[in-house]
Amino acid sequence: MRAKEFIIESKQYKTGLCDVFAIALHELTSLPLGGWAGIYYDDLFDEEAQEFCHACVVLSFENKEWLDVDGYHKGAPDNCMFNNQVDRVELFPLNKTEVSELFTSCDLDSTQIQQAKQYILKHPSLQKYVNKNLQEDPAYGLPTLDKHRYSVLDKLVKSAHQRRKITSKAIQSLDEEIDDNKAAEVAKAVEWMCKKLNITQIPTIELSMDTDEAQGNHHTGGHVPGSGKIWVYAKNRNLVDILRTVTHELVHVKQHELDMIEPDSSYPGSPIEAQADMIAGKLIKIYGARNPHIFE
Ligand SMILES: [Zn+2]
Repeated sequence: MRAKEFIIESKQYKTGLCDVFAIALHELTSLPLGGWAGIYYDDLFDEEAQEFCHACVVLSFENKEWLDVDGYHKGAPDNCMFNNQVDRVELFPLNKTEVSELFTSCDLDSTQIQQAKQYILKHPSLQKYVNKNLQEDPAYGLPTLDKHRYSVLDKLVKSAHQRRKITSKAIQSLDEEIDDNKAAEVAKAVEWMCKKLNITQIPTIELSMDTDEAQGNHHTGGHVPGSGKIWVYAKNRNLVDILRTVTHELVHVKQHELDMIEPDSSYPGSPIEAQADMIAGKLIKIYGARNPHIFE
């Protein structure tokens, strides 16, 4: 049962009103919503089932980084209680409707969401995630949450573009400091990723040793939509880190092919970025399982 009245106090948002809080946080930060669920075996239906225990917003699905009333967390929550015999806990992407349906039987009260927003704006540990543009214009950049759903992600990956035969090796400007072995590994992975993503125009990949570029612009990878080129910082980085960056950028290439990228749509935590992280994470996991040496 949802309390009719409540004091604005963090205690309220830890359990019963975590959904209200997550939605308020989602609306203020435009970070995607997520839910932690215990996975158990349902004897009746003879399949695995989920029991949701906590709503949050997600900074990174791959790294299990999320926010709730207590601020930043990494990894699974340790205070979930379950009715079923749960054997593991997983983080799922959810949309607003799912959050309100999974965590409560009542309609979400807009006054409660407003109150939660006031709480967020007063607390520095949460305040810093609030999207400044959103504060000025509440309609700006509201994510279309369907894009976060894996079924939609799969649809994107399988989308109508015909598979092309990849003929050219994609690696460009090989610095002598990068060993041939690493470059060959990147080329091999890029071919595989491009096939998986059904990318029409295989971009060239520039493996860069330019520390100034990386530090000056605070990034490890970049891609100008439509340029056919991806820039990746490679100095002193593990192969798997380089591949993760390359793959993230390749997802942007795919998003560009599908006309999903608009000016200003790539701010941190935006749907475009969250989707790039999620798909890259998923692809690296699949690729890594077949090529475990990339983790060395
Ligand atoms: Zn990005």
